Amino acid sequence: MAVPQNKITKSRRNMRRSHDALVAGNPAECPSCGELKRPHHVCGACGHYADREVVAMANEVDLDDEDAA
Ligand SMILES: [Zn+2]
Repeated sequence: MAVPQNKITKSRRNMRRSHDALVAGNPAECPSCGELKRPHHVCGACGHYADREVVAMANEVDLDDEDAA
């Protein structure tokens, strides 16, 4: 098994990790429902893309119906 020859100091380790921070996305407002969505992606809330519905939403299906189980 390969073993590091030298100890990585806290300083070197932290310098390497200086580029590891997560950056926030660039959310854009959905023109259809106003929800924040990823640019150039179908809206997860209403299923619209470029002012037309491309993904049918299951709003009418009650998934939490008690007598379904
Ligand atoms: Zn939307």
